[in-house]
Amino acid sequence: MAPTAAAAEQQQLLPQARKALGLAAHDASGHLTPIRITRRNTGDDDVSIKVLYCGICHSDLHTIKNEWRNAIYPVVAGHEIAGVVTEVGKNVARFKAGDNVGVGCMVNTCRSCESCEEGSENYCSRIVFTYNSVDRDGTVTYGGYSELVVVSERFVVRFPDGLPLDRGAPLLCAGVTVYAPMKQHGLSEPGKHVGVIGLGGLGHVAVKFAKAFGMKVTVISTSPEKRQEAVERLGADAFVVSTNASDMKSVMGTMHGIINTACASTSMHPYFALLKPKGKMILVGLPEKPLQVSAFALVGGGKTLAGSCMGSITDTQEMMDFAAKHGVAADVELVRADEVNTAMERLAKGDVRYRFVIDIGNTLKTD
Ligand SMILES: [Zn+2]
Ligand SMILES: [Zn+2]
Repeated sequence: MAPTAAAAEQQQLLPQARKALGLAAHDASGHLTPIRITRRNTGDDDVSIKVLYCGICHSDLHTIKNEWRNAIYPVVAGHEIAGVVTEVGKNVARFKAGDNVGVGCMVNTCRSCESCEEGSENYCSRIVFTYNSVDRDGTVTYGGYSELVVVSERFVVRFPDGLPLDRGAPLLCAGVTVYAPMKQHGLSEPGKHVGVIGLGGLGHVAVKFAKAFGMKVTVISTSPEKRQEAVERLGADAFVVSTNASDMKSVMGTMHGIINTACASTSMHPYFALLKPKGKMILVGLPEKPLQVSAFALVGGGKTLAGSCMGSITDTQEMMDFAAKHGVAADVELVRADEVNTAMERLAKGDVRYRFVIDIGNTLKTD
């Protein structure tokens, strides 16, 4: 089905539907303009959510500009959604109107494969992403750059008391993307040493979670000017510049694991050297070029190279509860809906500390 036909037919596929205001990209320029989209009415298992805040993830930028060659225009991006429940279907037990809730990267899965049954639904081969994805009813999903989302209860998480909605929204993608593999790979134990490569949207929350776990954390960056920020404000124990040989040597063989959010260099060898024997390198970023890995870097020390994508809904809820308990939240720059194109331009240049969040609730309005 051609992308435009898909969008046009959405209305016909949904006799039980309503209109909602959103922000959409219509072509690879990625320029966002207001749009009226269709949302299904609240089904028996659905939660209708008035969106208050939505984080801007780098994936949003890649998708609206069709950099991954998969855009289904119009694209309404956004998978770091914080809002308040307005209505629930009759089978919904966990939420009621007035609850603060969040929605992350996925809104549906097959619910019957091995991954779904073991609670790793983020690895379901039939996963439906929160936007730019074809749902099981054939409609194209629209994300949180809109005033309203309707999501199956199963893919909604509770926003714990004490976690601010604007600074908590980015945790729904960036937070769980680093939290889940840290838990899974034993990088959440007090006293252990973890390295974090890259200090951006993912990296800055990885540092915060590591400190909340009671770990020693070293930031590994290409930008010497981030040293003060990393150590003094984010609380990292150490900071090394990856291009500085003596810096790198000073932490060689000391790390139980590394969360790699962005690896600028294609050769992984200098980073593996930082790991202790049996240490783990976890990739959560997606560099464009293939990485160069020498078997010698892994085999001798019994080291592991692993990847991780998002987290399950159970992981996400656990992460949100942990964040609230330990005062972990993203550092954000709140922007108005009419500033979103400027925010995207700045994000493309890496000019953000550390996540833009759109104030949907107060500023997304028709002219
Ligand atoms: Zn994301
Ligand atoms: Zn599945």
